[in-house]
Amino acid sequence: MDWKVPLSDLDFGEEEKEAVIRVIDSGWLAMGEVTRQFEESFARMVGVNHAIAVTNGTASLHLACRALEIGPGDEVIVPSLTFVATANAILYVGATPVFADITSEDNLNISVEAIEDAITPRTRAIMVMHYGGYPCDMSAILQLAERHNLFVIEDAAHAPGAAIEDRKMGAWGHIGSFSFFPNKNLTTAEGGMLVTDDDQLAQKMRTLRSHGMTTLTWDRHRGHAWSYDVVELGYNYRIDEIRSAIGCEQLKKLDRNNSRRGVMTALYRRLFQEIIPDLRIPFADYAWKSSFHIMPILLPDGTNRARFAEIMKAHGVQTSLHYPPIHLFQYYLDHGLAPRQPLRMTEAVAAREVTIPLYATLTQRDVEYVVNAIAESLKETNLAPQSASQPGS
Ligand SMILES: *Cc1c(COP(=O)(O)O)cnc(C)c1O
Repeated sequence: MDWKVPLSDLDFGEEEKEAVIRVIDSGWLAMGEVTRQFEESFARMVGVNHAIAVTNGTASLHLACRALEIGPGDEVIVPSLTFVATANAILYVGATPVFADITSEDNLNISVEAIEDAITPRTRAIMVMHYGGYPCDMSAILQLAERHNLFVIEDAAHAPGAAIEDRKMGAWGHIGSFSFFPNKNLTTAEGGMLVTDDDQLAQKMRTLRSHGMTTLTWDRHRGHAWSYDVVELGYNYRIDEIRSAIGCEQLKKLDRNNSRRGVMTALYRRLFQEIIPDLRIPFADYAWKSSFHIMPILLPDGTNRARFAEIMKAHGVQTSLHYPPIHLFQYYLDHGLAPRQPLRMTEAVAAREVTIPLYATLTQRDVEYVVNAIAESLKETNLAPQSASQPGS
């Protein structure tokens, strides 16, 4: 489908192409100098001692759980309003995800009170997700974690460059995790990154990333080592030099591109206020610095969302949902993973949420077009006869 305004778009140029060609010409394709550079630059951006690049954001969350030795019998508190990988990573290590509700219709991040209510003697960690790039209340969450002796993992897939005061997201918890999937603020096609200030955790994650081996291809190539031992049940979760080269170029654009997303977000908010004032837009006047990953809106109660999305599609505007709550997925229901407390706010918001286009190269005219399309689609949706409003997808 050729969208007039797609949900997300890349900002790739000659820089990325040339970086890829340089790697190909160099003849060194995996675990080399370019990956080391990407890790170093990323660590500097986040303001942490260690960054470990991996094959994708899901592998990254899995390694975070493994490195903290979370396992069977352990519980990890997690939001349900996130991508399924956030909770799947907890299941990979045999632990139990315990879902906590979000804060409000305005703040779609995990609620600190709900986290506190979900703590049991089995709780080992809290895994937060900075929805849309808007930071969770990390001071309160860290205080709670300290009081109960819990680890904090940040799923910062939405939040590269976001910050509370001067401390970037990913640097607050014991481990931060990022994804570089094509729709993210910084992409390497597939890719991910772990960050931490803890030397031991960093070492463990590096080992787990590469089969649990004690020395790396790079060291052996350089003559630093010629044999190895295997000390953990590790994986091959490595990134490669081609993707790291793209990552280095994308990282240089991150600040500028986050700012562009911020400008377009502000324009959306202003136009909505003028044109569709009864539309609810979460994270109004948010206290902390966002990376503006996505643009969520909440449709008026009772709007037929499937019909709305169809009409938007007819206008050439791509929309999406963030997210179908994890606790309602078949697999989770079938495996006894239903929440212990009802997730009322999560379910209420998830039923009304629609994500509209946001990306660094979005223009003012695109935003105006999308806002007008929303105004028209809402009108048409509510005019539609009942027969046309059966969910079609
Ligand atoms: C994208 C994303 C992931 C998974 O990352 P992949 O790189 O696609 O494996 C995990 N959590 C959240 C919140 C994401 O948005």
